[in-house]
Amino acid sequence: MRDYDGTELGNVENAASFAAVPDAFQRLWTPYRIAYIKANSEQEPTGDDCPFCTAPTLSDEQALIVHRGTHAYVLLNLYPYNSGHVLVCPYRHVATYDEATDAEVAEIGRLTQVAMRVLTETAQCHGFNIGMNQGRIAGAGVAEHLHQHIVPRWALDSNFFPIVAGTKAVPRLLGEVREEIANAWPAA
Ligand SMILES: [Zn+2]
Repeated sequence: MRDYDGTELGNVENAASFAAVPDAFQRLWTPYRIAYIKANSEQEPTGDDCPFCTAPTLSDEQALIVHRGTHAYVLLNLYPYNSGHVLVCPYRHVATYDEATDAEVAEIGRLTQVAMRVLTETAQCHGFNIGMNQGRIAGAGVAEHLHQHIVPRWALDSNFFPIVAGTKAVPRLLGEVREEIANAWPAA
């Protein structure tokens, strides 16, 4: 197989031959590209202009915070995929999950569980998407400060808007949703 400029790329390997969990994809190994990728990595902002460092310095209403824990806090995403889309962030400005301390990992996990229970109760959702995008290339909007997404899902929450119009219909206002979740959050 050859690249667009004719460079020989080597063999395409069949994933089924690896001692790992196989999937439907084949892999094209292009290690020489790492120099290009590294040279084009964006400079990440420092803590000074990081939205997840700034949020805890504001009021709950201003920052859309629903709960403040000891090592981590929970806030509404300003750009929700669905109503009730919350984020769990450590207070500390760390980029990736492996940089979090044991105490931060434990509290991020616990707050994720509580958020699920609160959202199940307040939003009557049917399921969740939960996860972390690690790095901008993996889809992280704020790559420099770790955050876990908790997105409630309903059976009929996807329609043609996101597909044909690049638009997401979010039926409820953020302030209203924040108040509802904050009020339903159990006392520690
Ligand atoms: Zn930060």
